[in-house]
Amino acid sequence: MKAEIISIGTELLLGQIVDTNSAYLAGELPALGVDLYYISQVGDNTGRIAEVLRRAWARSDLILTTGGLGPTDDDVTRDAVAQALGEEMRIVPELEEHLRQWFSRRTVAMPERNLKQATLVPSAQSLPNPVGTAPGWWVEKEGHIIAVMPGPPREMTRMWRNEVVPRLRERVTGEIILSRTLKTYGVGEGTVDEMVSPHSRSSNPTIGTYAKPDGVHLRLTAKAPTSEAARALIAPVEEKLREIFGDRIWGADDETLEGAVGDALRSRKLTLATMESCTGGLLASTITDMAGSSDYFKGGLVTYTNEAKIAYGVPAQLIEAHGAVSQPVAQAMAQAACRALGADVGVSVTGVAGPSSLEGKPPGTVFIGLAWGEKARAHDVSFPGQRAVVKRRATTAALFLLRRFLQQG
Ligand code: AMP
Ligand code: MG
Repeated sequence: MKAEIISIGTELLLGQIVDTNSAYLAGELPALGVDLYYISQVGDNTGRIAEVLRRAWARSDLILTTGGLGPTDDDVTRDAVAQALGEEMRIVPELEEHLRQWFSRRTVAMPERNLKQATLVPSAQSLPNPVGTAPGWWVEKEGHIIAVMPGPPREMTRMWRNEVVPRLRERVTGEIILSRTLKTYGVGEGTVDEMVSPHSRSSNPTIGTYAKPDGVHLRLTAKAPTSEAARALIAPVEEKLREIFGDRIWGADDETLEGAVGDALRSRKLTLATMESCTGGLLASTITDMAGSSDYFKGGLVTYTNEAKIAYGVPAQLIEAHGAVSQPVAQAMAQAACRALGADVGVSVTGVAGPSSLEGKPPGTVFIGLAWGEKARAHDVSFPGQRAVVKRRATTAALFLLRRFLQQG
């Protein structure tokens, strides 16, 4: 099945919003076995929308539209679909009743212009929208399908999942595309590619390498009649890659480093504290991106100056002897975080974010400290980069090393 997506809204063409709807839908189609050939964006103009629809009709089996279903004058998607199909729109009494109830439950009178949200053309069925006033349309005619969905992403994704996907599943035949992403850390993109290359000759699954902020990702993509069959193609290759990369693969698919760290702490009933210098709180912020992180995260100290480090328990003579950006101080910071916040495990970051050097050390010099009971250590993870990049990469390094520390621990 050949598909195309049409995103509707003048806001898109003015650059005021970004078309995340089509990116979302594009990401969904491979697993359904639908081939996406085109994505278009068009403003709120009946004639131009109808023109884009006619072109899509001529070359695609499935047309997905989002946007332009609101009550205002510029929301004209329904009119355009009717025009392209050469069909008459009419008000459907049940839909009108449903809409009036929606407003009366909120004890407001329905503006009459909302009435256009209760219309259909003869070839269309209504797609319910429990989280908004605009129902969608499901049009089936002459071997073509048009699914018309609202613009607000929350309403669109819900309608897509609950209404459109089940209908498509009944109609799509053919091969689906399934991907599995393995996430590595601590190996450069080129090296990863080299390590993979003996296995990357296979065309099903294919293996792609991608450099991301949290390390290099390996994406295995398989094509098969069912998702079970695709998974069966991926499994042996994944096993091989896990053998090659060992603990440098830290997660898969939607997993995050902060999630992996959280799981490791929670399963061992351990608590964590941080002491950060050059990352200025980014590490604590990232740890708390996980819902429920209060189960294990006691808190974090941002000790930016030497005085602040000393005030929270880093020995002054260590800083004098080695400088604040050093392995011994990183280790002492992790231990001090544990003591100050009464945590089992401490992690620290001290470094030079740049652009200037500090203590004669160049920008990008970073040390990560780890402490857990009697054990304490520090790692030199220096890398080049601009200030924001150094802060991000230092945070990622701290999370990765913390996870490994907990595993080996
Ligand atoms: P509309 O139904 O076209 O009036 O859109 C209502 C709202 O949904 C817009 O103001 C945007 O906030 C959002 N929206 C519409 N289209 C898109 C899109 N393609 N991607 C992301 N958000 C969108
Ligand atoms: Mg609009």
